[in-house]
Amino acid sequence: MEYGAPNFFGFAYTEDQRKLVSLLRESKKKNSKTKLCLMTAPSFVVDFDYVDFVPKMKGLGFDKVTELTFGAKIVNQNYHKYIKEHFSDYKINGKRIDKKFQNKFISSVCPATVELVKTRHPGFVKYLLPFVSPMSAMAKIVKKNFPKHKIVFLAPCSAKKFEAAKLLGKKKKRIIDVAITFAEMRQIVAKEKPKNKNGSRKFDSFYNDYTKVYPLSGGLSSTLHCKGILHKNNVVVKDGCVELEKLFSKTPNKVFYDVLFCKGGCIGGPGIASRAPIFIRKQRVIKYKNFAKKEKMDGKQGTSKYTKGLDFSREF
Ligand code: SF4
Repeated sequence: MEYGAPNFFGFAYTEDQRKLVSLLRESKKKNSKTKLCLMTAPSFVVDFDYVDFVPKMKGLGFDKVTELTFGAKIVNQNYHKYIKEHFSDYKINGKRIDKKFQNKFISSVCPATVELVKTRHPGFVKYLLPFVSPMSAMAKIVKKNFPKHKIVFLAPCSAKKFEAAKLLGKKKKRIIDVAITFAEMRQIVAKEKPKNKNGSRKFDSFYNDYTKVYPLSGGLSSTLHCKGILHKNNVVVKDGCVELEKLFSKTPNKVFYDVLFCKGGCIGGPGIASRAPIFIRKQRVIKYKNFAKKEKMDGKQGTSKYTKGLDFSREF
């Protein structure tokens, strides 16, 4: 895939691009102690070739390259448990299993949607599922397992960059050191011209192949495994800010709302350089999921031992 070149007048790096390029150069110095872990959103396949993505990023200077899919699985597990314990209609042996019942749940994986609910529809904040996003979950997992690495997040939108900046760990230090959009990374690749590093095309750790559809509208609910808890007629899938505004302007009468701010989901994010129509982008995500499974492209599978002691809850 051609990543584009600086235009006739060239371009200046943004502050985030400068920060990342400086870290990359530092990491390539002989005996450097700077090690970088790239964490990419799975929608990266809209803007990058998935076949040589890992060797290209390693050629650029990353020591480890991971995908958010394991973080998405962790979010799904927390949603599943919470809905099971709090949905007023769900009963085991005729008994409800928790006292705090509710009959509406809104996904909170997209920071722009969360802001929309908080600022324009505050009455619905109580329905937002109280868990961090896949990005934040994965950042906590990476920090726990590779504590010496600096974390760089590759995002389809600026909303996630803001969310990354606000994610703090011990001593109120940022967990994610730099967040950068796909479009910004493409410019860096075009300018730095990295050679693909010899070696594996596999992601380092940790992966979960079925959540590779997460960036598609409906990807969350299709991987939530809530059969027997939620009836499919009670699940609403909506994408695009106009649609969400319409949805929240009325009192919601369904149970689970799988909602994303961008048209088509994260594959329609404003930080994506591609101008391809949404259906082509969707096809790339599906093709990638099938390819990764067939080629066994992923690295070590994420399991609960990598998340031990981590807290994924959140308040709004
Ligand atoms: S739906 Fe859009 S704004 Fe929300 S996380 Fe995805 S790309 Fe970002």
